Amino acid sequence: MSGVAPARAAAASALPAHTGELFVGGTWVAAEGGRTSAVDNPATGGFLADVADASVADGIAAVDAAVAASEGWAATPARDRAELLRRAFDLLTERRERFATLITLEMGKPLAEARAEVTYAAEFLRWFAEEAPRISGRYGPNPEGTGTVVVGHRPVGPCLLITPWNFPLAMATRKIGPALAAGCTVVIKPAEQTPLTTLLFAELLVEVGLPAGVVNVVTTGSAAAVCAQIMADPRLRKVSFTGSTQVGRILIAQAAQNVLRTSMELGGNAPFLVFDDADLDAAVDGAMQAKFRNIGQACIAANRFLVHRAVAGEFTERVVERVGAMIMGDGLTDGVTIGPLIDDRACARVHRLVTDAVDRGAEVLLGGHEVSGPGSFYEPTVLGEVPAGSAVLSEEIFGPVLAVVPFDTEDEAVALANDTEFGLASYAFTTDLSRAHRLIDRLETGLTGINTGAVSNAAAPFGGIKQSGFGREGGIEGIHEYLSVKYSLISR
Ligand code: NAD
Repeated sequence: MSGVAPARAAAASALPAHTGELFVGGTWVAAEGGRTSAVDNPATGGFLADVADASVADGIAAVDAAVAASEGWAATPARDRAELLRRAFDLLTERRERFATLITLEMGKPLAEARAEVTYAAEFLRWFAEEAPRISGRYGPNPEGTGTVVVGHRPVGPCLLITPWNFPLAMATRKIGPALAAGCTVVIKPAEQTPLTTLLFAELLVEVGLPAGVVNVVTTGSAAAVCAQIMADPRLRKVSFTGSTQVGRILIAQAAQNVLRTSMELGGNAPFLVFDDADLDAAVDGAMQAKFRNIGQACIAANRFLVHRAVAGEFTERVVERVGAMIMGDGLTDGVTIGPLIDDRACARVHRLVTDAVDRGAEVLLGGHEVSGPGSFYEPTVLGEVPAGSAVLSEEIFGPVLAVVPFDTEDEAVALANDTEFGLASYAFTTDLSRAHRLIDRLETGLTGINTGAVSNAAAPFGGIKQSGFGREGGIEGIHEYLSVKYSLISR
């Protein structure tokens, strides 16, 4: 516990300067009626700060600001847009410790993981700074020889960005980076549980020269009402959402009204396949990463461990040993490797999934209990021989529960893996190259990790298929989510 006192001192100075205000049109303003709501620390249950609780009118004022800045930002040379993002990358990298501390405070992940999130988040700023001047087009004769086809791109226009609590910084930069690179202005609405990181990032953007109205931040406890009205505003052109499939469906329906462009990064149910020819050291390392990163609260977290029967015993034993050595606690404490869940509701949901599996005959090899407060902790848990039909295999766990299901053949493993409405990530461990190629073709997911438990990279297109959503963030694809194709024919 020796690390706690200095960590607490650092914590006090990590908070943003404008905690209780909205950022609209380049100025910090109180919410209508001065309303605020509290943000708590999930590791202690303690109060962190009050943030502004925006009304619908506040949300529309943010759209006004984004619309007013839209033409000027679209006309700003790509090189200048790029340089702003590059300065933001540099300053964020310099301030890594402060951002990491704030992420741990409001979200709960261990500090080492929060530092990794800051690095990952910053990469989107650097990547899209590099992409901004490379927005390209085509030029050529039409087949009839009567004209010239010119294809270019225009910024989509003002965007609403809605982010979740599990990666409060990376989910913001993964949207703000490409939007600004493309020439779009934005209103961002962070999750109620973790708004402070976005406010601190807005302060950083101001320091690096962000023009007024290009990024506007609306914190609110009335996400549904405020976002619905923003989306109903005919001046808005796009909504980009990361969150649950359940909320994604609502937003897709609302977006239909004004035919908005949409990007949807939704829930997952990732299968993690271990074949009998796998390097088990690598598979166990990959399992620990893919399952326990972010306390299991990642959309690409491995949800179902499908393990060949010949190696299931050894794999499970080794995983139990590693999980048993994890140290649970406040993420600011030195040595802690697993933090709290986001709130008590999340603990209760995870426990329901564990109880259901156990009632159906799964073996509890480790953990299996909620931990009494303060804080919202759930024991890291390993379940063996989880029977088909268990809710833990069909629902997104979003917690530190590793569920093992043995299989006998590759066909069976693929059928089990694809037996879900989700299609975000999958993982497979095998040393057989032909099998790896077959799996890449057969696994119905937007991302596949072969012999690795960590697939996220700013240079790669992240996104799902099936009910995990559509659109891609990162890679050369990412900027196109914020661009419209413009074709013209020049007659000869
Ligand atoms: P959530 O869907 O409850 O909330 C996400 C965001 O949507 C929050 O900002 C919330 O305030 C807002 N929101 C909620 N209801 C809304 C409504 N009716 N209208 C407008 N906004 C609304 O999800 P969460 O619990 O914050 O995040 C966890 C989920 O996010 C998981 O399902 C996870 O898989 C998913 N996720 C997906 C990705 C991805 O890239 N595919 C990445 C991270 C998280």
